[in-house]
Amino acid sequence: MTDAAQRPSAAVRTVTEVLKTPEGPEGIPLWLHPEWAELFPWLVQGTTGRDGPGDTTGFGLWGSTPVGVSLSRWRRLRETTGLPTAIHSRQVHGVRVEEWPKGLPSGLVVSEGADGHITRQPGMLLTVSAADCVPVFLVAENSRIVAVAHAGWRGVAGGMVENALAAMLAHDARLEEVRVHCGPSICGRCYEVGPEVHQAIHLSGGPFVKAPIDLRAAIAIRFVDAGVRPERITLSSHCTYCGGDFFSHRRGSEGRQVGVLGVRE
Ligand SMILES: [Zn+2]
Repeated sequence: MTDAAQRPSAAVRTVTEVLKTPEGPEGIPLWLHPEWAELFPWLVQGTTGRDGPGDTTGFGLWGSTPVGVSLSRWRRLRETTGLPTAIHSRQVHGVRVEEWPKGLPSGLVVSEGADGHITRQPGMLLTVSAADCVPVFLVAENSRIVAVAHAGWRGVAGGMVENALAAMLAHDARLEEVRVHCGPSICGRCYEVGPEVHQAIHLSGGPFVKAPIDLRAAIAIRFVDAGVRPERITLSSHCTYCGGDFFSHRRGSEGRQVGVLGVRE
């Protein structure tokens, strides 16, 4: 069931990320936003995918993947993107956005309990992991300030969209220069949830039975309400659940993909 309250402005567009496979056995393939890759050569943006049906590990740091395997993938990801410092956090379905200043060492920097990251420093690869939840990418194209957020329904209900945008503006990004992309996640046909979720994210009061919601559309509506121009918002067409290219928590995947965003040095 869908209704008008679930649909964002028609100016919000759907785009299909394209897979870029680097040369060499060590390169990590990334699904890139085709327009951003064209428009912003100074930007690194993408989402890792599932490396075939046998890939059960992804980039998860808190599952059963041996730490050496996981850290090796993170190193290859830094090398593939050319950004020396990767930022990640143990995510808690919260709404905190962590700020990253300059002066961090090369390598993987892991913090605790942040579902969003922001920086204006080149050379830093901000990352969030997801497997049905939405990796949200924010770019201030003139100021070159970037932020990523992990947004499931709890994060959306708690105000992650508004927090991430507020963090951008607090770093002197101007609202008119902000672009937003909602990456690969579970789609509006596959994400069936109970009435408590509909009510939590204020979708038309909520049905009284299980019904699907389009989380990316809900996020877009919130960004538009917060002042981002709808023509500057794009939503991925990829579904983690009904497509085969990404990990899906609801399908039983233990692995996680990561959404990455940073500014080249
Ligand atoms: Zn789907």
